[in-house]
Amino acid sequence: MSRLIEVDRLSASYGKLTAVREVSLAVGHGQIVAIIGPNGAGKSTLLNAIMGAMPSAGIVRFRGRSLREYDVEERVELGMCLVPEKRELFGDMSVADNLLLGGFTRRRDRAGLRRSFETVYGLFPRLAERRAQHAGTLSGGERQMLALGRALMLEPKVLMLDEPSLGLAPLVVREILQSVAGLRDLGVSILLVEQNARAALKIADYGYVLEGGSIHLEGSGEELRENERVSATYLGTDS
Ligand code: ATP
Repeated sequence: MSRLIEVDRLSASYGKLTAVREVSLAVGHGQIVAIIGPNGAGKSTLLNAIMGAMPSAGIVRFRGRSLREYDVEERVELGMCLVPEKRELFGDMSVADNLLLGGFTRRRDRAGLRRSFETVYGLFPRLAERRAQHAGTLSGGERQMLALGRALMLEPKVLMLDEPSLGLAPLVVREILQSVAGLRDLGVSILLVEQNARAALKIADYGYVLEGGSIHLEGSGEELRENERVSATYLGTDS
């Protein structure tokens, strides 16, 4: 499996607190890779460091190329996209306008944008139905769909998702994660951070367990689901 993203001993700190310590991981083309772990394990920090949104030590490679000299915008141009935990939609604007804003940097590529709208509405028919509705009136699940859709407007090669299931009811969690699996079928690679380990490992090709800023365990989604410690610690209560 060729590697789209390779992270080699990445560390990131807030002052004296090292939140991510020498983390190495890889995301292959067309893979869903999950990072699970408890509150405060460093999952969001890891995504931000990979995206270049905070200083870090270590190496992030995209298609074999070191990103050391690349800032966030340049990483976006390469095809990396981070969907943060806070969904940051424009509540007073319509669904369609939120999507259009997502594709703002491609505004001269009208055919490409039209294609992206079709992709997003195909993946999320609910957004197509609500295209004229203000984003602020959407349900939690629909808002998450819109956040994913907005990211797709940039035709990313890899999407990094920070807790897409956060705050959603179990049935909606399942729906959102099925959509994430659908993204893989469109050829988008996914790095998925989740506290909802059971749901994440169900769709993940590979996973890492992050605790206290370090990787403690890794394996295929199935291996991790069957691992006794993972099962006892992370799979007990969630849906
Ligand atoms: P959660 O699921 O709660 O978001 P997480 O696994 O994503 O947890 P991080 O948010 O990356 O974990 O936090 C890792 C550590 O870094 C925690 O100890 C947290 O308190 C600390 N931390 C996070 N953001 C900051 C910040 N802006 N300034 C200082 N410390 C921070």
